[in-house]
Amino acid sequence: MSNVKYVYTFGGKTAEGKADMKNLLGGKGANLAEMCLLGLPVPAGLTITTECCTAYYANNCELPAGLMDEVWAGMKNVENIMGLKYDDAENPLLVSCRSGARSSMPGMMDTVLNIGLSSKTLPGLIKKTNNPRFVYDSYRRLIMMYADVVMEKAEGIEPAEGKGIRKILDDMLDEFKSMKGYKSDTEITAEELLKLADAFKAKIKEVLGTEFPDDAKAQLEGGIKAVFKSWNGKKAISYRRIEGIPDDWGTAVNVQAMVFGNMGENSATGVAFTRNPATGDNQFYGEWLINAQGEDVVAGIRTPNPLNDETKNEQNKMMHSMQELMPDTYKELCDIRSILEHSFHDMLDIEFTIQEGKLYMLQCRVGKRTGVAALTMALDMLHEGLIDEKEVVMRVAPAQLDELLHPILDPADEKKHTVIAKGLPAGPGGAVGIIAFDSDTSKAYTAQKIKNILVREETNPEDVEGMRAATGILTARGGMTSHAALVARGWGKCCIVGCDALKIDMEARTLTIDGRTFKEGDLLSLNGTKGWVYAEEVEMIDATENPLFQEFMKLVDKYRKMGVRTNADNPADAQTAIDFGAEGIGLFRIEHMFYGENSEKPLEKLRNMILANTREERVAALDELEPYIKEAAKGTLKVMDGKPLTFRLMDPPLHEFAPQGEAKMKETAKRLNIDYEDVKKRVESLHEVNPMMGLRGVRLGIIYPEITRVQFRALFSATVELMKEGLHPILEIMVPLTINAAELRNQKSIANMVKEEVENEYGIKFEYKFGTMIEIPRAALVANQIAEVAEFFSFGTNDLTQMTFGFSRDDVNAIVHKYVEDKIIPADPFNSFDSECVGELVKIGVQRGRSTRETLKCGVCGEHGGDPTAAEFFYKVGMNYVSCSPFRVPVARLAAAQAAIKDER
Ligand code: PEP
Ligand code: MG
Repeated sequence: MSNVKYVYTFGGKTAEGKADMKNLLGGKGANLAEMCLLGLPVPAGLTITTECCTAYYANNCELPAGLMDEVWAGMKNVENIMGLKYDDAENPLLVSCRSGARSSMPGMMDTVLNIGLSSKTLPGLIKKTNNPRFVYDSYRRLIMMYADVVMEKAEGIEPAEGKGIRKILDDMLDEFKSMKGYKSDTEITAEELLKLADAFKAKIKEVLGTEFPDDAKAQLEGGIKAVFKSWNGKKAISYRRIEGIPDDWGTAVNVQAMVFGNMGENSATGVAFTRNPATGDNQFYGEWLINAQGEDVVAGIRTPNPLNDETKNEQNKMMHSMQELMPDTYKELCDIRSILEHSFHDMLDIEFTIQEGKLYMLQCRVGKRTGVAALTMALDMLHEGLIDEKEVVMRVAPAQLDELLHPILDPADEKKHTVIAKGLPAGPGGAVGIIAFDSDTSKAYTAQKIKNILVREETNPEDVEGMRAATGILTARGGMTSHAALVARGWGKCCIVGCDALKIDMEARTLTIDGRTFKEGDLLSLNGTKGWVYAEEVEMIDATENPLFQEFMKLVDKYRKMGVRTNADNPADAQTAIDFGAEGIGLFRIEHMFYGENSEKPLEKLRNMILANTREERVAALDELEPYIKEAAKGTLKVMDGKPLTFRLMDPPLHEFAPQGEAKMKETAKRLNIDYEDVKKRVESLHEVNPMMGLRGVRLGIIYPEITRVQFRALFSATVELMKEGLHPILEIMVPLTINAAELRNQKSIANMVKEEVENEYGIKFEYKFGTMIEIPRAALVANQIAEVAEFFSFGTNDLTQMTFGFSRDDVNAIVHKYVEDKIIPADPFNSFDSECVGELVKIGVQRGRSTRETLKCGVCGEHGGDPTAAEFFYKVGMNYVSCSPFRVPVARLAAAQAAIKDER
């Protein structure tokens, strides 16, 4: 027998555990213990630890030696408190066996009730209760649950859809009821229940090949093992993936004395929330059923009654509330509600049972809630003195805040529809619209005020206008940092990318998903927060401006220490970001001026430059481009007046902007008055095998210094012109994709020259900061040298992730998907920041940079800047700010505040 203590008892106003032992006892076990310590009526029981679950899996799915001895010893305690005896013919104790992980996984694991009923204990219980109907009802429930959970699921039997033992037994029950003309389970008589139980047992033997165990001790051991097994059930695994719960946490098992809500009209069972989990309103909200066991409420077998009069709705307004039928017990429950809220300082979700008029608490846990409810409750609880300001900030999860900022599909309506495809949730919120297969169609629909979804294989810069016009975007390829994702998030647009199930035929203009074909004009609904696609119209709900939002964000900023900037490159987006609380621009991508609205002219000039044969031709084309760059910078600098704007020198490979396709090339040839063949040759010469590692970033400016020069001229003159207008532009310029200090010195010398020129020309001196992006591992490693030249670093974690993993950010999706599925990597690193290695490089970059320049300002402008789960890491390594798309600014502010509070705690 090992020395490890695996069993903790509770009951009789005392317990071996308490609320802060969730890691060991699971949420349910820890809170059952706490409720005992609070003196609440809790049926006695014991909790088998999560460590035991880990040992069970490490031990080839065998219980650790000696565990059952510890369980039987604990059961003695339960027997003493309850005045009953397990497996006793006269006075039998029955128990439930339930799961309980560290963080709640509602409905994802299995439960068995009424364990301990056998041919030995049945007669005694009947005699004692004088209620054969109740005893046989409990028995048939045990048989049904046990067969399903212990004999089928835990044994790894995977029946075909609809052929599981539970379904077979349920069908038998339904058939029996309809044969008898019964509407409700409660009409079945005791004799009939006994007959059903026998029929169930025969069926189980026939289908599963084994007998239902008639031995109470074997039943309990089977129940415990089955709960451990259910930790690795399909549902539980998928839920953990979604919620990011580690596989090695394991679940605890709670074995607890049964109390019965199905002993007649003065017995009942119910579930309740101490406040309304959908709206956050401070009203006791719940459902209950007379003469029933808990599973009847959660499984929706019978329509439950409302708990009180205040929360009756259209569906249940004619039904009796507990407040009406059992006013004294209701009052006792209300008192417990208050005790629990004052003890846990939060909204709780509770389960209770009333056995012949006596109330018992079976569970309490912090309740799940919507974003609106989280916000409302947190502020209410602050005003009620239940929690302090910092706790208010911690109470709203970043994802919940995000939910508040986007119109979404109505979750209630969503449940009525079937998901037809799943992709990556690239841009949050919901969208409903008809299919448009290209940018022009999308624009045309939008011009007619028809909501549409742009459906593409992938998106490229030429699609940008359609993406802007569309209500939602759906692509078959691409990852979380693919162009479509980046742009969509920037606009707060609903977007799903990498949806492998889409088969798009552009010739036929059809979309096929799983054999079902859609035409242009057919309707789709998207849930961009989850990445789910529907073929019907799902109702939307409006994310109307919540007045509590402002109050909440004030508190957020009060405790936030890390700055929050935005990635924006036009005045409208910059303004949106300021409205959302951005303190500056962390990344202005100049190349965005060549996409979308009003881009024809500058794009034409850029193309002239790209296709130039000689330096002279190139310089002439750049001279014509300069005013456009100046205007682009000036417009946004103006909006940002008094706030810093970090402008990044041109980054992408030039071929992205070259005319594509014969028609475009012919048009360009005509305009430039050169041969089509000539244009074609020049475009072909720009082709690179690995463009992401080729002529891009600072390399462009080293090979073509005139490209750097024109950008400095445009930016400097924009700055001084604004200064002359009396404004206060704060310009920062950064060089992308650097590998060493020499590159920066090279570019800085151009800047120095141009600065002097511009100052002389305008007769005015100005300041700006010169910095670099850190996006290549090498740059992080020589950051001490780079900081000799750079006054600030901005970590481009998109490229840094790409270069660290060697994963192409644009088309590695299918591989990453498989890697995550097979647990080769824990998550898509473009989506969830890889703090282990990319993070290590970031940390090294900051430390080495500051070893040279103590005051070096550091920020993050990759997409991870808006990833709330990375905020804590960035805060800890000493980032001065994170920068993200405008719509993510509030989320980043919240994540930064939470990081500071967590660190302090
Ligand atoms: C990055 O690489 O993280 C970055 C911000 O630059 P871009 O996404 O434009 O390559
Ligand atoms: Mg980059």
